Amino acid sequence: MAKKTDVLVIGGGMVGLAAANALLNRGRSVTILERKCPGAGASWGNAGLVAPRYIVPLAAPGVVAQGLWWMLDRESPFRIKPRLDPDLLRWLWAFWSFCSEEHVERAIPILRDLNLASRDRYEKWAASDELEEFGFRTSGSVVVHRTEKGGRKDRKKAQRAQKAGLNVSVLGRSELDDVLPNGPSEARGGVQYHQDALLNPVRLLSSLKHRIEDAGGTLRPGTAVTGFEERNGGIHAVQTPRAEWRANDVILAAGAWSAPLAHHLGLDLPIQPAKGYSVTYSDPAETPDLPYVLSETKVAVTPMDGQIRCAGTLELAGFDGAVDTRRAVPILEEAARYVPHISPDAPEQEDVWTGFRPCTPDGLPVIGRVPSVDNLVMATGHGMMGISMSPITGELVADAVQGDDSSVVDRSPLSPTRFG
Ligand SMILES: Cc1cc2nc3c(=O)[nH]c(=O)nc-3n(C[C@H](O)[C@H](O)[C@H](O)COP(=O)(O)OP(=O)(O)OC[C@H]3O[C@@H](n4cnc5c(N)ncnc54)[C@H](O)[C@@H]3O)c2cc1C
Repeated sequence: MAKKTDVLVIGGGMVGLAAANALLNRGRSVTILERKCPGAGASWGNAGLVAPRYIVPLAAPGVVAQGLWWMLDRESPFRIKPRLDPDLLRWLWAFWSFCSEEHVERAIPILRDLNLASRDRYEKWAASDELEEFGFRTSGSVVVHRTEKGGRKDRKKAQRAQKAGLNVSVLGRSELDDVLPNGPSEARGGVQYHQDALLNPVRLLSSLKHRIEDAGGTLRPGTAVTGFEERNGGIHAVQTPRAEWRANDVILAAGAWSAPLAHHLGLDLPIQPAKGYSVTYSDPAETPDLPYVLSETKVAVTPMDGQIRCAGTLELAGFDGAVDTRRAVPILEEAARYVPHISPDAPEQEDVWTGFRPCTPDGLPVIGRVPSVDNLVMATGHGMMGISMSPITGELVADAVQGDDSSVVDRSPLSPTRFG
């Protein structure tokens, strides 16, 4: 017999859990179907940065030329594995079409408002006793450079962020020493983003899970959605190997796997899995006072409960979770050479975590209803910002489910229908 619930959330990553939490707060009853366990996707080993500083989408002028150059560079932080995959080719074409100044100008206020609203909610979560402590610190972050070229690029980004109204300081070497006394000694300077914050993603996942269970929500780990039965323009049943589920509303929050699942509903969702890596060093002699990003390698270095996590690189290589020992490991090794108090040796393959960021070609998440499937709401495509944006995403999902059009940020640029 089919199982029934009010709202069914597919995916137990940060986005799915945040959506479930927001819906429970609105008095809905919620079941989450998770293929493995919460955090099995990208939400576990990431850098844990809540980063309003990320206001420029990946699709920006010059990125294609830079990307082509990087393809030839064995130690670049970005790679596309060449393959004849029609979804990838369509995605790249769309990405290329968004690489314009016009798109960047349009995206900046959208990303800024989402990020700041989300950070605000994190502060409230941290102050409330509904959630267990999750290592949230309004620390700010610093992007540090060790080359003049890196510094020039970072100062340009800083100007842009200042223009968008963010609180930013450009730091010379001695100012950097004051802000980040235990940072890389080779750094020439940096840019401090005062509104950035930090959390421990594993603790956040666990506290959200407990909060959801306390509020009456149900989490079903080990339950993979395999398909859908559609009837009368909506989802009649959600199929899993052991049971069929019926729900009033279905939220698709399966991160990078949302695209293949959407295919079952005849929907073409342009999301590519963008693999990233992290290594967590468990016994550093000291941890930095605040998180920082190494400008040249784009590796984020985060203090996390007495440990140091280095996270970075972006590979469009499909759902291949293998650790690229020729490219990614050398980048992490190079980064580690600049980070004090950790081993400068190449990390062992088994110590490297990989996760798939769900990336849209325009760099904006996909949140909202799909006109062709009545009871479906999408919540995915957060790319490099899924931790930063989860709380506000949860709220926007709940608004979409409830048919509330008075969201604190405009949902229309995030619509799943925007790609045509
Ligand atoms: C190296 C790295 C560093 C990062 N650093 C940051 C950072 O500092 N700050 C930030 O904001 N973001 C960061 N990100 C991005 C962030 O991790 C992601 O945007 C975010 O985790 C996406 O969350 P999600 O819930 O959408 O997807 P996921 O966390 O991937 O969750 C999707 C879930 O769906 C489940 N699922 C898949 N298929 C099915 C199915 N058929 N049935 C049921 N369940 C299914 C999966 O098992 C998974 O648990 C980083 C990412 C990486 C890779």
